[in-house]
Order: sequence, then structure tokens, then C-alpha cells
Amino acid sequence: MLKKLTDKIYYLPFNEETDRPILGYVKGEKYSLMVDAGNSKKHVELFMEEIKKENLKYPDFVVITHSHWDHTYGMKYVDAPSIVCRRTNEYLENMSKWQWSDEAMEERLKSGEDIEFCDTMIRREYPDRKEINVTTADIVFEENLNINLGGIVAQAMKLDSSHADDCVVVFIPEEKTIFIGDIISEDFHHGEPVYYKHKLLSLTEKFKELEFETALFGHMEPFEKSELINWLNEVEIEIVD
Ligand SMILES: [Zn+2]
Repeated sequence: MLKKLTDKIYYLPFNEETDRPILGYVKGEKYSLMVDAGNSKKHVELFMEEIKKENLKYPDFVVITHSHWDHTYGMKYVDAPSIVCRRTNEYLENMSKWQWSDEAMEERLKSGEDIEFCDTMIRREYPDRKEINVTTADIVFEENLNINLGGIVAQAMKLDSSHADDCVVVFIPEEKTIFIGDIISEDFHHGEPVYYKHKLLSLTEKFKELEFETALFGHMEPFEKSELINWLNEVEIEIVD
């Protein structure tokens, strides 16, 4: 069920069953913005049904927090221009060439291009993997993009993260809210999960600077700012240089 955070911010909660992240909705006077495109056509359809129930209009744009499958494989099924940073688009371009046979998937696990967890979740979300259709975006920015939605601005910013090198947050100053994707997570894709010291520090400093009250992380309940900072100060995963 869609949750209302403020008069202008809504989100569909995460679902661990197939690793679906939260999907955000920002309601401007002129345009509405979806944050992240979900992991499949079904995920997108669920989101669109839920916003319809709330009498919210179909989003005019969808902005993506990073390239990981659970945030992007629904892009094809959102009938609105998609917005990503250049690095994300490069990853999407690469993934759009992936094959989905058992052999191809096993090969990617061996080469380290993909990890066991995503492999398992993709199989679970897609009983028929022919439905997977990875696409690149319509609008690409480098580091920062402000989207004026009418009476409210969404600021997309690429920030340092251990999780991936294409992480973008979507900050809504007027609502004191920030969508952070998986930016506070560790790197799961290069051996044992780790954080990188300088990236973790840089991210923590940035979050201290930004004036928000609520942070919407992809796979957990919303954080208050102080909780988020504490969480980053006390990560329990190994930190490397
Ligand atoms: Zn991720």
C-alpha cells in the first residue's frame, strides 16, 4: 500500500520477497516525479495501481538512484521519460546486452559480473526471464540535475558511495526529504562486503550538510536524519581504505 510521507511525497514500501526497493512519488503543481523504476513490469504496475487509488496522476518523469536491477528493470514499463546519471547509463547499456539463459547467468556469477543474491532474486521475480528487458535512459546528466516540478524542486545529486560508483540521491528541500536509494549500503559486488573509508566519510559529511528530516532508503523503513548519521557512524561491516 502507498504511504504518504508529506502532502507532496508518497512511497510504495519495499518488499523483501523479491528484493523490491521502495518506489517514490513527488507531487509538484506541474509535474510528478517517480523515484526508481522498480525491478519488473509487475512492480511498476503495482505502483501505478496504488497511485491511482490515491487519485495521483501518472508520473511525468522517473529518476533512477543507481543501476542495480531492482531499481531499473522496470524502466521499460514506465511510460514517462527516464532520467539517470551518465555512469548509471553506462551500466544499463552494458546490462542491456546480457542474456538470461541459465548458462549466461552462471557465467556472470563465475566472472563476478553478478552476485548470488541478485541471481536468486531475479529468478524469483521472473518465472519467465524472457520478460527481462533492460533499457538505457532518455535523459542523462553528469553530476547534478534540478527538476522544477512546480512549487517544488527535486535535486538529483551524484554522491560518493561504497555501494556503487553511480549512486544518486534525490533531495526535496521544500519537504525536507531525501530519497537515497541504496547509497548507505556496503559494496556487495567485489568479494566480501566492505565500506570504503573515504567514500563513507564523504557521504556522511554530505548528509550532515543537507537540510532534511527524513531519508527514504531503498530497503528499510524511513530514517530520521540523526538515525541515518548514527547508522553511518556505526556501520558493522568491515571498512577498508
Ligand atoms: Zn543497489
